[in-house]
Amino acid sequence: MNVLLVEDERNLADALSSLLKKNGFVVDVAMDGNTGIDMACTEIYDVIILDRMLPYLDGISLLKKFRSLGYQTPVLFLTAKDTPKDRVEGLNAGADDYLIKPFSTVELIARLHALTRRRNKEFVNHILTVDDMMFDPQRAQVTKKGKVIHLTLKESQLLELLIRNYGQVVTKQRIIEKVWGYNSDAVESTINIYVHYLRKKIKLSNLKTVRGVGYYLKKMNA
Ligand code: CA
Repeated sequence: MNVLLVEDERNLADALSSLLKKNGFVVDVAMDGNTGIDMACTEIYDVIILDRMLPYLDGISLLKKFRSLGYQTPVLFLTAKDTPKDRVEGLNAGADDYLIKPFSTVELIARLHALTRRRNKEFVNHILTVDDMMFDPQRAQVTKKGKVIHLTLKESQLLELLIRNYGQVVTKQRIIEKVWGYNSDAVESTINIYVHYLRKKIKLSNLKTVRGVGYYLKKMNA
């Protein structure tokens, strides 16, 4: 799951980011509102954690602008003040949920899961059946011909992305952003390695390469 954290307090951003990564999230951090909205508009994030007070463009203005552009990504709003006015303002601007600082990290993670679950209900709660395999993204495992194959986190994220775009080419850039993160230094050769792992582990003969562009899962009957 990809998280964009828009937070200008360096210490908090670092602490949250490493905690989320430990919990299996792919995390990118934006330290000001302008960078935040630019990154949010790439649409590679499953959820956005947005601080209220930010340099250049504050959280409320960012959120209003983001929603006015038509983006639907769930947003968890962070606010330092617990006043009804603040909460209402955040929700009115288009936030899906809010947390009051200081908050417990356990609660933050639970809320992030709840937000993305609501969004991807059909997807997250169900095992996906594609061609002759069943894929459980929550457990990172594939069942094929009665055999259970366990995937690593990255393998699972890559497979999920390909299944979500079944039959369509996913560009290398998109794969890097979704699986490794916007600011990562992952390179194309890294993707090649993981594609190789998937082909080998799951015997995905329909995982096709479009040279110089990306990868896709070819529909079996297409
Ligand atoms: Ca702040």
